[in-house]
Amino acid sequence: MKQCIYCDAPFQVRASWAGIFGVEKEKLLCDTCSRKLENLVGPLCEICGRSLNDLDETFHDRTLCRDCIRWEEDVQWQDVLKKNRSLYKYNAFLKEIMAQFKYRGDYALGELFGESLVSLYRSDFKGKVLVPIPLSNERLYERGFNQADVLANMIGQPVQALKRAHHEEKQSKKTRDARIHKAENPFVIVADVRKDIAEAHITMIDDIYTTGATVRYAAKALLDCGAKSVSSLTVARG
Ligand SMILES: [Zn+2]
Ligand SMILES: [Zn+2]
Repeated sequence: MKQCIYCDAPFQVRASWAGIFGVEKEKLLCDTCSRKLENLVGPLCEICGRSLNDLDETFHDRTLCRDCIRWEEDVQWQDVLKKNRSLYKYNAFLKEIMAQFKYRGDYALGELFGESLVSLYRSDFKGKVLVPIPLSNERLYERGFNQADVLANMIGQPVQALKRAHHEEKQSKKTRDARIHKAENPFVIVADVRKDIAEAHITMIDDIYTTGATVRYAAKALLDCGAKSVSSLTVARG
């Protein structure tokens, strides 16, 4: 008998061929909880990876969702994010799990997604340089660890290429006009890894893709530093 990592219910692990040959990692969720995780089923938006089936026809053009069409129409964001793929729909259940993962500092919850994340990485992103999306320093202090780092470390050896910029102090010195019209990138590149980024195809790792703004700003910083292409892989698609 095992205990579900989320609801604590005891459950039986059925033997499977994969299990017998030691391929399958131990299950951490009971069947009831496992069923609450919703996969993203195709057709998917070619850029952000959301399921187009979930959208009314007016919100997509069969290949891209309306949000991505809008991003691509804006010259400064065109071709910035190559593609995003996520494991699950960000439903109420996943929201609760992610909240635990973030605030309880629970590494086991990272293990929960590790195996699936690795296989999605292998099928869609193999051979790319891994870059976790950093938390702001305040958040990092609050939580004690960055979930994106935990996830990236499960896939391979990430390069800590991005850090959060500190625009706040500088912002106040600028004219109001400059502040409003030139939104500054919240990410900057860590100086010593510039050579790892130049010419590289990059996969950024994060927990959630929501509006797509965070990953696009991060991608822009990497492209400005010479990266060839930037994609992202997340656990949840909001
Ligand atoms: Zn459970
Ligand atoms: Zn999209």
